[in-house]
Order: sequence, then C-alpha cells, then structure tokens
Amino acid sequence: MDEDDDTQVYKDNGDALTIAYQSGYYDGKKAAQPAQEPVAKYCCHVCFNKSGQTFLDRMIICSECGNKRCPKATNHALPCTDSNEPNQAGSVFTNTPQRPWVGLTDGEMEDTFIQCGGRWNGDYWEIEDADFHPFLRTIEAKLKEKNT
Ligand SMILES: [Zn+2]
Ligand SMILES: [Zn+2]
Repeated sequence: MDEDDDTQVYKDNGDALTIAYQSGYYDGKKAAQPAQEPVAKYCCHVCFNKSGQTFLDRMIICSECGNKRCPKATNHALPCTDSNEPNQAGSVFTNTPQRPWVGLTDGEMEDTFIQCGGRWNGDYWEIEDADFHPFLRTIEAKLKEKNT
C-alpha cells in the first residue's frame, strides 16, 4: 500500500476506517462528488438519447418550428421542414413498420411448459398452481428475448 495513503497513516493507532472518518478523509471524498447536475437540455431525440436520461419529462419539439414531427426534433442535424406531417423522413414519428413480432412455436411453448413443471396427461395439459405463474413469466421472458 502507498505510504501516503490516508488510511495507512492512521492504521497503527486504531480502527483505520473510524479514524479516516474523523480525519475528514471521507468527507473530502464526499465533497469531491459532482454537484447535482442541472436537467440536461436536449434539443432533439438524438441529444436526449446521448444525455443518458431515461425519463422524457417533456415532448421534444423542433427548436426552429416547434413541431414534434419535424425531422429536426428527432435529430438536430436534419433540416427543419417547418411541418408537423407524419411520416417525414428522419422523424421518429413515422408509420414505417416496426420489427415484426417473433412469437414462440408450438414446440417451444410445450417445451417451456414441461420445463416449468407442466405435463400432458393424455387428454390435456396440466400444471400445478405453484408452477403456473412462473411458467407464464418464463414465456414472457422468452418473448422479450426474441423481440429485443
Ligand atoms: Zn439535438
Ligand atoms: Zn422544424
């Protein structure tokens, strides 16, 4: 360990952590934390994504025309169209088809059912009450996995 380390200096005199607190070592660390960041200003969806924020607290509109469907509201590098028409190139507000949904095959459903404790009794599928919700959660997780 480095001879200059604060905790090392006090080590022989007792509990290093307590002394480090008393000496202000940890207060010093706390003070070094960045102050509460002001709410980031994001002019477009690209900037919002870059800001690292996950909660969009307001609608993002074009800084020039104020339309949410303007491509510039999606990416400030795009030109302002002064329009709020849907389906503008570059805008997030388009009706371009989303990625097609991928479901589970019958075989995958049955395999999952069995893995989760269900069984085919010759007439119908059955599952214990305790296994029922975990089964559905597992199906949910598999679908999510296939569609993200
Ligand atoms: Zn921007
Ligand atoms: Zn605009």
